[in-house]
Amino acid sequence: MACVFCGIVEGNVPATKVYEDDQVVAFPDLNPQAPTHVLVIPKRHISSLMGLEAEQDLLAVHRAVRNLAESLGLWPDGFRLVINSGPQGGQTVHHLHFHLLGGRFMKWPPG
Ligand code: 5GP
Ligand code: ZN
Repeated sequence: MACVFCGIVEGNVPATKVYEDDQVVAFPDLNPQAPTHVLVIPKRHISSLMGLEAEQDLLAVHRAVRNLAESLGLWPDGFRLVINSGPQGGQTVHHLHFHLLGGRFMKWPPG
């Protein structure tokens, strides 16, 4: 089955890219859960966190998150980075993605 996030990477599915480099792209979530809700994804298709093997992918995402936290004005107020993994983790799109949430106070526990 076609992967919607691969479609965004390839430009076949519309999305407003707020960050892009060789390895990573970021775009606003279709159904935002906070004033700022961006999805940060590796361009290469990795189905979940459990499928991530190359350290460079994690480093590339970290670089993107730091960049976005500054450019979107989330720092130093703070933000939350979430990786839903598997059915009980709430993962619905099977292309690894990091939810970057900010612009409001985050509650804990997350529910
Ligand atoms: P998950 O539940 O897998 O952690 O998160 C998937 C996220 O992808 C959801 O928050 C959902 O709103 C978002 N999403 C699903 N399809 C699309 C799409 O086509 N475009 C964008 N921008 N977000 C999407
Ligand atoms: Zn994909």
